[in-house]
Amino acid sequence: MAKSAARELIEINGVDVDKLLDALTRMATCELANYYYYSVLRLMLVGVEGDALRNIIEEARAEDHKHFEALMPRIYELGGTLPDLGGISFSSELSLNKLPRDASSIYEVLEILRDAADYYVREYTRICSMTCGKDNRTYALALAILHEEIEHQVWFLEFIGHGPGEHFLKEGRTPSPFVGRLLQGPSRNNTGPQLSVV
Ligand code: ZN
Repeated sequence: MAKSAARELIEINGVDVDKLLDALTRMATCELANYYYYSVLRLMLVGVEGDALRNIIEEARAEDHKHFEALMPRIYELGGTLPDLGGISFSSELSLNKLPRDASSIYEVLEILRDAADYYVREYTRICSMTCGKDNRTYALALAILHEEIEHQVWFLEFIGHGPGEHFLKEGRTPSPFVGRLLQGPSRNNTGPQLSVV
């Protein structure tokens, strides 16, 4: 099969495209698995603290869904494909996010969420390093997602410290403030300014 033009351009710049596609596909699958995980988890949470954590999880869940949507087109542009649903090993992707044995133990839940957030921050940082100065489009995308993953990490850390913190409660925060600008189309609630990335 002929190589995509996008792939050739970044190969010339020295990107190992197979390695990059492997990382992007893994993260897209992880984002989808995370969306699934958060959907189940929010139904399990109980009590006052559970309610407060549910608000954070709903926000992170919506943003992880956007991360999946934002990654998909770039994977196809580079000539990659996503596994069909039967080919996604949810159990292995979800091993980061094991459902808690006791969802009323909010701190067990938070430790799981913090570990997963650490993993995402590390992996998107790695994709930024692979593409910086060589693949502007993937770099901009990974950096936008990274900003939001760091916010999720801060929300969970603040919650572990002293309940919902000032970062999460910051009024007027636009959902998906970084990735939302990269997604185009009226059906995606894209209210921010357009960011042109080539
Ligand atoms: Zn995400």
